[in-house]
Amino acid sequence: MLKIYNTLTRQKDEFKPIDDNIVRMYSCGPTVYNYAHIGNLRTYIFTDLIRRALQISGHKLKGVMNITDVGHLMEDSDDGEDKMAVAAKAQQKTPWEIAEYYTKVFFDDLKKLNIQTPEIVAKATEHIDEMIEFVKALLDKGFAYETSDGIYFDVSKFEKYGSLSGKKLDEQVAGARVEVDTEKRNPEDFALWKKAEKGHIMQWESPWGMGYPGWHIECSAMSKKYLGEVFDIHSGGVDHVPIHHENEIAQNEALAGKQTVNYWMHAEFMLVDGGKMSKSLGNTYTIKDLEDRGYEALDFRFFCLNAHYRKKLNFTFESMDMAKTARARLNQSLLEHKASSNKTDPKIIEEYKEKFMDAVQDDVNAPLALGILFTAIKEPKSKDIYNLALEFDKFFGLSFDKIETKEEDSIPDEIVMLAASRAEAKKVRDFSKADAIRNEIEAKGYLISDTREGYTIKKKD
Ligand code: AMP
Ligand code: ZN
Repeated sequence: MLKIYNTLTRQKDEFKPIDDNIVRMYSCGPTVYNYAHIGNLRTYIFTDLIRRALQISGHKLKGVMNITDVGHLMEDSDDGEDKMAVAAKAQQKTPWEIAEYYTKVFFDDLKKLNIQTPEIVAKATEHIDEMIEFVKALLDKGFAYETSDGIYFDVSKFEKYGSLSGKKLDEQVAGARVEVDTEKRNPEDFALWKKAEKGHIMQWESPWGMGYPGWHIECSAMSKKYLGEVFDIHSGGVDHVPIHHENEIAQNEALAGKQTVNYWMHAEFMLVDGGKMSKSLGNTYTIKDLEDRGYEALDFRFFCLNAHYRKKLNFTFESMDMAKTARARLNQSLLEHKASSNKTDPKIIEEYKEKFMDAVQDDVNAPLALGILFTAIKEPKSKDIYNLALEFDKFFGLSFDKIETKEEDSIPDEIVMLAASRAEAKKVRDFSKADAIRNEIEAKGYLISDTREGYTIKKKD
């Protein structure tokens, strides 16, 4: 039985799909004005793990992810310029060119990280009509009103506003920033549609003149189009709880007149060196940055698997090094299991499988599941353990089927020959010759150590 932590109920709930045949899931996607940083990618790895947990629990999926290529202003709360327009201006390109470039890089990153592409990827700019229809319906139902610069959602009309973050409306008002827009009825009212100001690049015709959509309406319109009014799971980063997802709920439920998402799931933030990631600190690393420093994208995926998604994860290069080493050891051990023709008692294999499923189904507990794999590989070498790992990999997504001995790990013939002559020398008790050969081996970059069975050779670190 799969249990997942539901931000809405603040507890682990048993997962029951609306439709037995298919799980419908929406995940907030990237705003494609920049490279995704490792924090963003942690959140997409999290979404991928939910997908895989559902799949190995026997569910089929219809997942939707949006690509925000318009309407996400510099502040989530509708302030500032459109992120796409800012990037376009800075790079002297059109917003469409910006979107195309960063969308491509984003999907390249997902591929490297073994993150499944959801069944439907929907671009905001291709769903403007659906958004306009949604806004019209909210106006008709009395949940929205027009001002001189746009159409706003009236949060005072939606009683449940704040239920996801648990913040009551009056608390939010008390803590709100000084309000500049005097036409807004309540400080939390948010733009559904903005009338285009002079010189605004991306704009569309609407019943309210030329304009562009608000960011929040995008997810509501696209989830409704592809998943229907009511669906199972909605995921995203924890920063979206207080504004973006609160606003999505308000829009969806105002229109539908009922609860529209059964399970809300949120990934905690990634920190760098214990603090926030920010451009000014120069610590918003990308996958390319990690690759340039000698890590593989899957080292980063492995790093993320070591922490539960509801815990903050602190990124440091020391901990990345540890993840890289641990993954290399894991892969090496799996290779040895793969090469073995021994068997493992099927009962033992079954026990591992059960423990693994319990971990995955206990709110997608990846670190616990990984711990079970690390215990399993300590079993005597056997192909069954390798096959077990392959099965676990449907969840981990670490490409255990592709691991192979790296060129640099294999010992050159010359060194193997030298080691053999050293063993000969030792056999005839010519220790000075044996020592000389050892020095020669070391000078060529290899270490030889004697064991009870003979000796082992490895490359110097
Ligand atoms: P954005 O492109 O800014 O909308 O962000 C894309 C996704 O990354 C959203 O789901 C955010 O919640 C998430 N996100 C942003 N910063 C971080 C971070 N430091 N750690 C984890 N997730 C993040
Ligand atoms: Zn969204």
